[in-house]
Amino acid sequence: APVRRQPSRDQPGRLASGEPVTIWANINHPLEARIALEQGAEGIGLFRTEFLFLGRSTPPDENEQYEAYRAVVEMMEGRPVIIRTLDIGGDKRVEYLDLPHEPNPSLGIRGLRLAMRRPDLFQTQIRAMLRAATHGDLRILLPMVAIPDEVTWAREQIHSAAESLARQGIPHRADVPVGVMIETPAAAITADLLAREAAFFSIGTNDLAQYALAADRTSADVSARYSQTSAAILRLIAQTVGSAIRARLPVCVCGESAGAPDVAPLLIGLGVSQLSMNPASISIVKERLSETMMTQAQAAAHAVLNIYI
Ligand code: PEP
Ligand code: MG
Repeated sequence: APVRRQPSRDQPGRLASGEPVTIWANINHPLEARIALEQGAEGIGLFRTEFLFLGRSTPPDENEQYEAYRAVVEMMEGRPVIIRTLDIGGDKRVEYLDLPHEPNPSLGIRGLRLAMRRPDLFQTQIRAMLRAATHGDLRILLPMVAIPDEVTWAREQIHSAAESLARQGIPHRADVPVGVMIETPAAAITADLLAREAAFFSIGTNDLAQYALAADRTSADVSARYSQTSAAILRLIAQTVGSAIRARLPVCVCGESAGAPDVAPLLIGLGVSQLSMNPASISIVKERLSETMMTQAQAAAHAVLNIYI
């Protein structure tokens, strides 16, 4: 069925003072791409691929993944689709992956660290992505990066996946942009170094807040200490944005704060120009931005860099 989008949903994000703001959607399942479009998303800023691996006894094979990624890319008809490689570990367990039982799983094998332990899984996923990229504007996003070496490793893996697809004569795109999640304090602080290895940044404020404030994002006991708008987090965002601008890299925020109508203007005031959020938040965030002048956003951002809220 054709996507039905109300005329008001077709307006791109824009401040009252005229500056454009790219509004993308976060999705966890291919079927949500249609909802994202209906809600007025200009692309998919974060497609979490964990769902493909959960609730089963073996990992999905290359074709199953290819079909899932292709479905989203085709639904989005040329709009950007940023697909994150597997970010299992931490609080999400998958029995068949045989992860170690760690006392601090959030500080252990998760995200790209799992990929480095299981390059076979990573190769399969990357091959599926490079194949699906022939159908539209697919970009790859790497989760849980703390040091530049991890990005170098992933890029080498992506290069060899492209080479093996070429050898086998399988249609694919070799030049897919590779971006880095900025969700550890180390990544934010060294964003200038990571910028040499990345085509874009996506700031994951959910984890960035957990790691910077040393407060488990899933624990009710420390929830009062967990705030995505504390001065510490906003300073890390500001530092990342500064590095991105100097390196001429686009920078998105894809954590929950991007979809909070009171917080989104602050992020824009810090220099962020792309926000990716749950589809249900898109219209309220667009509305709030359309009522905000850039000078107001900047003044608000400047104020909160120096107070705890
Ligand atoms: C984040 O950490 O902010 C993020 C967007 O990723 P996830 O919530 O999947 O960890
Ligand atoms: Mg995260």
